[in-house]
Amino acid sequence: MQQLENLYRQIIMDHYKNPRHKGLIDSDRYRTHHIKNPSCGDDITVQSAVKDGIVKDVRHDGSGCSICCSSASVLATLMIGQNIDSAQKLTDNYLNMIMNRPVDENLDLEDALAYQGVKQFPARIKCATIAWKAFEQTLKEWSDNDE
Ligand code: ZN
Repeated sequence: MQQLENLYRQIIMDHYKNPRHKGLIDSDRYRTHHIKNPSCGDDITVQSAVKDGIVKDVRHDGSGCSICCSSASVLATLMIGQNIDSAQKLTDNYLNMIMNRPVDENLDLEDALAYQGVKQFPARIKCATIAWKAFEQTLKEWSDNDE
């Protein structure tokens, strides 16, 4: 178990130090959502580009703690290439995992599994979920205005 925790810590620190898909893109191909977490100073913006029902790109930018910033990078890596339906299911599953609700074990959260320990630290739950909630808002906009 200790080894697994170390692995999870490594994943989180790696995405924090070398964030993937970071930096916003100014284009109407993207939907953008911004969320702030005053309790920790996290301030994050997430964008998604969806075409033909597929998440073509996810971008993020902002500042905050390691949990918040790294989870935005993990989110982007996981979501690119998913269809809207799987992207929504993965998001639900991740949020359920963090909030200690039942999860669908058949869905592969990949690196996002590294955040499962967060449920033991209620003060950090917001940190681990704001990027995902921002992403979920952009998804909602896509399904409301499907091209
Ligand atoms: Zn935070």
